[in-house]
Amino acid sequence: MRAFQERRLRWLVHHAYQRVAYYRRLLQDAGVPPERIRTLDDLARIPITTKPDLRRVSLQDRLADDVAPSKRLRSITSGSDGEPSVVIRTAGERNALQAHRLRAQILAGLRPLDLRVSITSHPAPRQRAHHRLGFFRQVEIDSRDDTASVLCRLEGLKPDVVRGQPQTLDRLARIAAQAGPTKLRPRLIFSGADTLTPAARRRIEAAFAAPVVDFYGSEEFDLIAWECRRCGLYHACDDSVIVEIVGDDGAPAGEGRVVATGLHSLAMPFLRFDLGDIARWYVRSLSCPVSFRSMEQPIGRRRDFLPLRGGRALSPSKVEAGLQEVEGLGRYQVVQTSLDRVIVYYEPLPGATPAGVAAAIERACPAIFPPELAFEVRLAAGAIPKSAKRRPVRTCLNGQ
Ligand SMILES: [Zn+2]
Repeated sequence: MRAFQERRLRWLVHHAYQRVAYYRRLLQDAGVPPERIRTLDDLARIPITTKPDLRRVSLQDRLADDVAPSKRLRSITSGSDGEPSVVIRTAGERNALQAHRLRAQILAGLRPLDLRVSITSHPAPRQRAHHRLGFFRQVEIDSRDDTASVLCRLEGLKPDVVRGQPQTLDRLARIAAQAGPTKLRPRLIFSGADTLTPAARRRIEAAFAAPVVDFYGSEEFDLIAWECRRCGLYHACDDSVIVEIVGDDGAPAGEGRVVATGLHSLAMPFLRFDLGDIARWYVRSLSCPVSFRSMEQPIGRRRDFLPLRGGRALSPSKVEAGLQEVEGLGRYQVVQTSLDRVIVYYEPLPGATPAGVAAAIERACPAIFPPELAFEVRLAAGAIPKSAKRRPVRTCLNGQ
């Protein structure tokens, strides 16, 4: 695998230098001729690119100059930070990435005759030929429809596999649980595109009596890693993406930010792109027959994670999952004001007393926050902004 990655990397860097203005400038400014990048150890010579870096570059400068405009397929994602990002690839590249995703789905239990129903905000109008032939069929339905009608459509389609974002699946689970026994009985549920919290997983699995398998990916790379049902860890899609985990100094680390290089993206290359997520390699040797590298569930996706001393970080999912269980708690916002201090602002639900809710939060906090992070529980006197629903956990270090 290493030899494959390195061969592909040399070719990719050479291509990006010759054909893509942004990477030519990046390597020239860093004083790194493409011939210097020969092995995975050389990868760190390439400066890391972040999402804000790319926003300052014109689309033209990010595209290979040898791909005809008619060959460019465009997808736009609306990042939760409000800034849309555009990814362009050719049909061949898209097929290669979809093949890697399909392989992971098969390893997760998908069978050729299964019907997958994908709940997505961009349902495709046309279905691909092999779908119509009956192998690996997939139907897409619109996640923007109201949840009850999505559930109704799913019950009618009788899928073997349901795919969707964790929040969508969780909403479905709640509706299904309220409505009594559901006719929807998928064999598997595939979650992706955002962080799956343990509480959401429990609710979804209970509502549909099927296991949830989580897929970690992004628009830029498609599938990056997936949850293995044999060993419970996430395996990196090593023959599609070179996944690195780096510390604050950009050097390889056991735990840190996820930086990725797409091995099949030539029309719009992504070299050492910072995904803004946190992950940790799993180093112990495994008995799992899947030989791809293993990591723990990536966290902090598109949300604030709380930095801790020593370069570690606390997942906002963990904070949300912990507070979700607090009885009587209405809206809340957790604000980190320094590396060792957080404030939990709360509103009690109607009928709950502030003192009772505060005491319940204080009982829950030691299991949520590590001992070095002191917490303070404060009744919000109109202090919780509307955005707290979207961003219930945030950091406010250095007065930002
Ligand atoms: Zn495994």
